Amino acid sequence: MTRVAPSMTKTRWRETAKTIIERDGGICHLCGQPGADIVHHLRGRRQGGTNHPENLRAVHRTCHYLNRPSRS
Ligand SMILES: [Zn+2]
Repeated sequence: MTRVAPSMTKTRWRETAKTIIERDGGICHLCGQPGADIVHHLRGRRQGGTNHPENLRAVHRTCHYLNRPSRS
């Protein structure tokens, strides 16, 4: 069986992100400061991470960018 799960729509993802940011009180998981505006996957999608709330943390866009492992 090769049934691929439908990928999350942008709207749906935005809803999820909003929920996660609210759940975390807008506190950035990376720097601990308020004002988180995006959601970060604790376990990367490539490592089998899911969009389950347990795998998601609110972060700042800038913190997320700075924490991104550099790819060569
Ligand atoms: Zn931050």
